[in-house]
Amino acid sequence: MTGAQSSSAETATARVIDGRAVAAEITDRVAAETRRLEADTGIVPGLAVVLVGDDPASQVYVAGKGRKAEAVGFHSVQHTLPATTTEADVLALVETLNGDPAIHGILVQLPLPPEIDKARVVEAIRPEKDVDGLHPVNVGRLASGSPAAMAPCTPAGCLVLVKRAAAGPLAGMTAVVVGRSNLVGKPMAQLLLGENCTVTIAHSKTRDLAATVRGGDIVVAAVGRPEMIRGEWIKPGAVVIDVGINRIAAPERGADQTRLVGDVAYAEVSKVAAAITPVPGGVGPMTIAMLMANTLAAACRSVGRPPQVY
Ligand code: NAP
Repeated sequence: MTGAQSSSAETATARVIDGRAVAAEITDRVAAETRRLEADTGIVPGLAVVLVGDDPASQVYVAGKGRKAEAVGFHSVQHTLPATTTEADVLALVETLNGDPAIHGILVQLPLPPEIDKARVVEAIRPEKDVDGLHPVNVGRLASGSPAAMAPCTPAGCLVLVKRAAAGPLAGMTAVVVGRSNLVGKPMAQLLLGENCTVTIAHSKTRDLAATVRGGDIVVAAVGRPEMIRGEWIKPGAVVIDVGINRIAAPERGADQTRLVGDVAYAEVSKVAAAITPVPGGVGPMTIAMLMANTLAAACRSVGRPPQVY
């Protein structure tokens, strides 16, 4: 790096990618398209969310999804089942929802109680109604580049943010995804590959993570380790998407206080990157927005109408 490049990297301040604003724009478009779909066909997109047990975080997520579904004009249904519910009962409910023409999207909130086989439940959902994009058929469709794929909501939201933040087409850019979970890392890599990026997936066994991340024009961090990605790991001018949500102690706010941070050391990285998502207010709001977009797409497909593309 030249002296001039180095000093500009040190003084540059990355553009903050406002996930709340983009998510609001998407939900407005979903609401408008929902009105058009109903006017043209009589179809109202229906989303059923199934919650098993009383995990407080899951209750908050499910309530948020239900509120947003109502706000965009969907038919919104929530099934709350006790933690003692058997796998057979969950499968029976999924089967009922599969056959319900008023329901276009089914989301079973994870985690499920340990006695219930998550894979069996996810695989019971009809792929066309699998708005979480976790059914093996949708995983395969995404991997094979099928337009019928339902992509998981968080990586789908990240891709929207990357496209907004990148100066031009993504084709040919190098992308480094840190994390290889089925929920985020792997589908994120498939989505970026689908945009013709050259994609590297890093994980806990990656030998030189800093050097690997430094190769990325686009870096997506989905690890779950507070502020792990440092400023000196980032290629100047990169687009950095921080999926991580980590709660850490915040003694500066008082005894027993906490705050949320991402997987990216925000203060450092924002001096090097061209654009960065904050935590909170970056990827988080996009997840629910893309759930609405996936449900609308499922309803559109059910009547042979091209799904909205974001
Ligand atoms: P996960 O299933 O725990 O996967 C974490 C990944 O990070 C794994 O692939 C793991 O590698 C990798 N990893 C762990 N330590 C590492 C290290 N030292 N160096 C490099 N890679 C390492 O997590 P997840 O479900 O993908 O979620 C990741 C983060 O995103 C979490 O903070 C989660 O809360 C957050 N999240 C946010 C949203 C949202 O809406 N904003 C949605 C989902 C998740 P191995 O595979 O080798 O173990």
